[in-house]
Amino acid sequence: MKLWNEVAFADKASPVLREVDVVVCGGGPAGVAAATVCARQGLDTLLVEKNGYCGGAAVAGLSGTICGLFQAQQDIKNADPKQIVFGFAEEFRARIADKGGLTDPQIYGKTHVVTFDPHIWREAADDILEEAGVSCLYHTTVTEVCKEDGAYTAIRLESTAGSTFVKAKAFIDATGDAALVAKSGLPYTYGSNGAIQNPTMMFRLADVVEEDFYDYFGVDTICPPDLTKRLTEAYESKTYATPRNRIWVFPTSQKSVFLMNCTQLAGQCGEMLNVINPEDRTYAEISGRRAAREYHRFFKDNVKGFENSQLVDMAPEVGVRQTRTIQGETRLTNDHVVQCTKAEDGIVRSSWPIELHAGDVSKLHWLVDDYYEVPFGTLIPQGTDNLIVAGRSLSADHEALASARVTAQCFEYGHAAAIATALMLQGGCTYKDVDVQQIRRRMIDNGSAL
Ligand SMILES: Cc1cc2nc3c(=O)[nH]c(=O)nc-3n(C[C@H](O)[C@H](O)[C@H](O)COP(=O)(O)OP(=O)(O)OC[C@H]3O[C@@H](n4cnc5c(N)ncnc54)[C@H](O)[C@@H]3O)c2cc1C
Repeated sequence: MKLWNEVAFADKASPVLREVDVVVCGGGPAGVAAATVCARQGLDTLLVEKNGYCGGAAVAGLSGTICGLFQAQQDIKNADPKQIVFGFAEEFRARIADKGGLTDPQIYGKTHVVTFDPHIWREAADDILEEAGVSCLYHTTVTEVCKEDGAYTAIRLESTAGSTFVKAKAFIDATGDAALVAKSGLPYTYGSNGAIQNPTMMFRLADVVEEDFYDYFGVDTICPPDLTKRLTEAYESKTYATPRNRIWVFPTSQKSVFLMNCTQLAGQCGEMLNVINPEDRTYAEISGRRAAREYHRFFKDNVKGFENSQLVDMAPEVGVRQTRTIQGETRLTNDHVVQCTKAEDGIVRSSWPIELHAGDVSKLHWLVDDYYEVPFGTLIPQGTDNLIVAGRSLSADHEALASARVTAQCFEYGHAAAIATALMLQGGCTYKDVDVQQIRRRMIDNGSAL
């Protein structure tokens, strides 16, 4: 890690490609929401994304379902889906559905999720950003943040064309990795004493016999106990390299195609990988592809309906759940989540369980028939005036983050960060000084439920 210097300030920003009101760094769910809502409020908005498309972990990582829209319910099998998150999350959900790229709600343990088509997700993002008037730069990486007289003034961009700067009045760090925060030398934490959640290589199988799948799995996308037992036996007898035994399989909007959330990647001796380090990330990519093939081999050999299945899609990049977590003005604590606390400065509800992928067995702690609200202050890094975070790097305890990091909530973090940006620029103040009740009112006007 020592060779990767995270703090680099430019002396001066030159040459300058553009000057805008706000730069949104990263085009995952949070970045797409932030950029769209900024532009809709009349701000000259630039979104910078290092991939050739938006979607982040949802698309490049093929995470595949929108979690966090619905409330967990004790008697889920007899309950109708109870949606508790709306606003931009609902708008984007409806857009994918209108394009035919979404399933109906599916049962996942004690709650519901919807599974989306990743190609349609990225096209929906292209459309919504264009309609709002956002300028996008794909295949462009933010590598540096510039500061003058205590305020952020510009970022450095790198692409195959070379290096340039963009000046802005406000900066939204939606990189998932808190890249701007780290490059500014601001404080952050990293998992539980440096150990983050395991990455996963997601994949999709085609030509699955649907009736056989439903006969065995029933209506729950979490695998039946019998499959857990068989995966354990297969692993212990060294017949298959299938260390994770509690896996999830989601029917998709395409007939006979299933999304597979099976792998759980660790180092060669079982140690946690540090995916900020390119060496560990490379290992995760390669071992992830091998692990996906191995789970497919297990399914073909052992699970009725999967005998003739084909592995038609693997995530372009290994799915990273967690890296840096900022030190925010407010911290989302484990107690806040477990006790379903409602916050006066809440910007989104969440009933998603603490879904912690770490160690040998993933933990699922359910928040049943209730939800908590994520405070706005979790998005504001300590020690900044005009830089805000949107997305999974919000300020949260390790286990709290394992609940708060999912897609529906990330959309709404972007939504809130964008409204805060417009209010900050109008008021000539800092993010800390923005009236949170005004953010909430505007979010409610935009359809959010708070
Ligand atoms: C394996 C896995 C399975 C998951 N399953 C689900 C699920 O089923 N349902 C669910 O709701 N959630 C799931 N999640 C979580 C969810 O996908 C993420 O939490 C969510 O995508 C985070 O959104 P984000 O916008 O905060 O960040 P990200 O999605 O990580 O997006 C960050 C974006 O920033 C870009 N970026 C990063 N650095 C730079 C830079 N320096 N310059 C320019 N661009 C940059 C990245 O390319 C990326 O597009 C899963 C995650 C993983 C890893």
